[in-house]
Amino acid sequence: MTQLKGIAASQGISFAKAYIFVEPDLTVVEKKISDTEAEVARFDAAVEVSKKELGIIKDKALANLGADKAAIFEAHLLILDDPEFMGTVRTDIEAKEINAEYALKETSSMFVQMFESMDNEYMKERAADIRDVSKRVIAHLLNVDLPNPSLIDEEVIVIAEDLTPSDTAQLNKNFVKGFATNIGGRTSHSAIMARSLEIPAVVGTSDITEKVKNGDILIIDGLDGVIEINPTEEIINSYKEKAAKFEEQKAEWAKLLTEKTVSKDGHEVILAANIGTPADLEGVKNNGGEAVGLYRTEFLYMGRDSLPTEEEQFEAYKAVLEGMGDKPVVVRTLDIGGDKELPYLDLPKEMNPFLGFRAIRLCLDEKDLFRTQLRALLRASVFGKLCVMFPMIATVQEFRQAKALFLEEKAKLVAEGVAVSEEIELGIMVEIPSTAVIADLFAKEVDFFSIGTNDLIQYTMAADRMSEKVSYLYQPYNPAILRLINNVIKASHKEGKWTGMCGEMGGDPLAIPLLLGMGLDEFSMSATSILQARSQIKNLEVPMMQELVEKALESSTTEEVLALLEEYIK
Ligand code: PEP
Ligand code: MG
Repeated sequence: MTQLKGIAASQGISFAKAYIFVEPDLTVVEKKISDTEAEVARFDAAVEVSKKELGIIKDKALANLGADKAAIFEAHLLILDDPEFMGTVRTDIEAKEINAEYALKETSSMFVQMFESMDNEYMKERAADIRDVSKRVIAHLLNVDLPNPSLIDEEVIVIAEDLTPSDTAQLNKNFVKGFATNIGGRTSHSAIMARSLEIPAVVGTSDITEKVKNGDILIIDGLDGVIEINPTEEIINSYKEKAAKFEEQKAEWAKLLTEKTVSKDGHEVILAANIGTPADLEGVKNNGGEAVGLYRTEFLYMGRDSLPTEEEQFEAYKAVLEGMGDKPVVVRTLDIGGDKELPYLDLPKEMNPFLGFRAIRLCLDEKDLFRTQLRALLRASVFGKLCVMFPMIATVQEFRQAKALFLEEKAKLVAEGVAVSEEIELGIMVEIPSTAVIADLFAKEVDFFSIGTNDLIQYTMAADRMSEKVSYLYQPYNPAILRLINNVIKASHKEGKWTGMCGEMGGDPLAIPLLLGMGLDEFSMSATSILQARSQIKNLEVPMMQELVEKALESSTTEEVLALLEEYIK
């Protein structure tokens, strides 16, 4: 029985077996073989086992994740039946008298290179399939287990070094009851996704992958960031009590489901939800979301091996707009880069991906990709109340360029006779300090702002949001951050525009009193935080919060601001 601590990343308590999601060491060395016939037979046996395994994975993927995910494994099976690919491996084993894993690795590299150099997107994608399926056969030849998250069909808690957003997107909520990772913080995207999947998560434990074995019984406490490994009956019972209390608290909040969000002195604000896919709408409704304040469309582009078509995008945007009826939906255009990769786009490897070729920078360069998304959005606009938001805007010029492309696509659609809404609002994320500083100039051109504190904090403090080493500098309550936020809200109001916040700070119970005092119009957060925030705001009075803000803006340090907040809470 052991207890581990990490960062509480998604609320809730679960009990389940551990599922270790760690890539094994697949290093292959060349060996001379004398009995090549036996080596070919060993290779064929590994291929047969891999095929059986892929058949099972394919069926499970079809049942749990849908036809497009299952198609990936179908493609893997086809490669294992390809006479040219398989024949090359067998011939190499015999002719060069080398071990099967080395022959496979060499053949695989050759084919991958060949496909990657082709001037055809479809062929390029096949390179990823060859790499993946070769890995599976090599794992069998080396007698090591590969983790297969799509195979999970019992309740588990996933344990990993880190989970990329696309790993997280593939987790099946019916079976995955929580996850814990070695690295990451509250604003890493796996944590954000855990909140929208409504599964408990603890991140940044440093070494949980070394402390837990497959099948260990775990309790994950996403309220306090604790993992209990093989707990005693007594500990299990105490967590059952804690889980029951949390359920009671949630039932209390749920009474506010259909109420408006109004402070004690009658000031109304909007509580919106951050979503990643149309499926998240259920959570928005169940938690009383009054709008979608951030739809991260990049998840539509992930967990697949080619770009989504205009039609696919149109269907997704339409589903969200229709689902929300007359409530506003802020759709953010593609924000890829940073910790969100798209392997099939073949983006350059950069020293500082968070400061590199990402989001609007990429979209203004890859205009066709951007235009496809804008057209899909424009076509969907007649199905609801659409607000389009551009991410990572650093200069007024970038906003003008993005707006010009938007207007060009709109004009084309209108000329084609396609219905397009005339009410679409165009706004920007304020997540780069340059934009926050000249918010007054932006406010004359945009319809709204949404403050992305996850990035704004990391860029203002020069502290990577993924790094635990510098996490002490990742300070939402630093007066520098508070002044920037205040500046943005005031600048927007001066021009009669509105400001929202879709960074994680927007749903933070400690930040909410300050943001209310500053006059934030829309608070956008994980759906699961909405009811708690509504209950909190009902008990706050704006003039008192304004006083608090005044003092906070004049403070010199984060510690002083936190002391003020503590005093106020008392
Ligand atoms: C942000 O930066 O605050 C934000 C909401 O965007 P993301 O977390 O997707 O970078
Ligand atoms: Mg951001």
